[in-house]
Amino acid sequence: MGTRPLLNRRLAGMGTTVFAEMSALAAATGSINLGQGFPDTDGPEEVREAAVRALREGHGNQYPPGPGIPELRAAIAEHQQRFYGLAYDPEAEVLVTAGATEAIAASLLALLEPGDEVIAFEPFYDSYAACIAMAGAVRIPLTLRAPGFRPDLDELRSLITPRTRLLLVNTPHNPTGTVLTADELAGIARLAVEHDLLVVTDEVYEHVVFGAAHHPIAALPGMRERTVTISSAGKTFSFTGWKVGWVTASPALVAAVRTAKQYLTYVSAGPFQYAVAEALRLPDDYFDTFRADLLRKRDLLADGLSAAGFRVFAPEGTYFITTDITPLGEKDGIEFCRALPGRCGVVAIPNAVFYDDTEAGRSLVRFTFCKKDAVLAEAVSRLGRL
Ligand code: PMP
Ligand code: GLN
Repeated sequence: MGTRPLLNRRLAGMGTTVFAEMSALAAATGSINLGQGFPDTDGPEEVREAAVRALREGHGNQYPPGPGIPELRAAIAEHQQRFYGLAYDPEAEVLVTAGATEAIAASLLALLEPGDEVIAFEPFYDSYAACIAMAGAVRIPLTLRAPGFRPDLDELRSLITPRTRLLLVNTPHNPTGTVLTADELAGIARLAVEHDLLVVTDEVYEHVVFGAAHHPIAALPGMRERTVTISSAGKTFSFTGWKVGWVTASPALVAAVRTAKQYLTYVSAGPFQYAVAEALRLPDDYFDTFRADLLRKRDLLADGLSAAGFRVFAPEGTYFITTDITPLGEKDGIEFCRALPGRCGVVAIPNAVFYDDTEAGRSLVRFTFCKKDAVLAEAVSRLGRL
């Protein structure tokens, strides 16, 4: 094997994702895991039963159709119409993927050539950097800075070059909790149209917004034909282990993304698709209650973190809270998170891992609140010992 590194140089330094590292640390130390974002309560019982029924009745136990089962594609199209008034043809404009993670990978691998530039909000969700790298493209960060974490549209304009191919948008934004306003989205859309850029938008937290409304960028003038919209059942229905995600876009974009998806996973797991088709048709009450529960949890954790001495940036969306540890006399989030299980039995994520410019996120630490109220209360009481 000689001296050549085994790992492809595009992935050099990417090692184990911080989510896996921190979840392993939580398990090894018996800590409360407020690191990786996964709920400690499963989604609706009737949706779980629908998966069991599909499995028992033999629906989807053999390779389902590549683009996704027709029932789910129809339900995704209905969902986009019901919540946003966006009409997509389930035959040609919807693609089911193995979670949003595969949708991101397939979109970037399909749409980018080596050397293309991709502008994305920094801090980046970690798979963006890896997938841009795997495509041989170049990530160009548009940094969202504390305390507001708003995108600066003049800065965005200044980052666009003749090599820019794609804007990678994420709203609601993980990890800052920023929800782009209608004005911000309109500004981004205008630049995309003016410079003829593609947009890939990760909207997995579309139903986790508090007060601020979620607007899909695909609904803006000139955007439908240039936007790939990504979402996932993992977040909206609290089944992160099912890995059912999807893409909605124009036929040409879906065809491109489907080509890459075919050679990544070929198809996504069958029985879960039947269950998610039912989930997407749940009444409004489900979505309202889900959001109200998370709002209560957000406030519980935000108040607790403030009382424990953290500077808290209350999120408008997602189930994450970004904090600054400087008021605790701490400077380095990575060191802080490595020591936290030993100090008080809690695990969190250092935001620095989502930055190229590590200084910008050095003292920021993210906690998730998609946990039972009692678990959050216990975590807050432990953090109070710091
Ligand atoms: N995008 C963002 C912003 C996320 O937080 C997540 C959750 N891990 C994903 C994509 C991936 O979603 P999925 O679990 O459906 O692959
Ligand atoms: N989206 C979750 C988080 O940000 C889970 C991470 C993952 O699945 N890779 O924590």
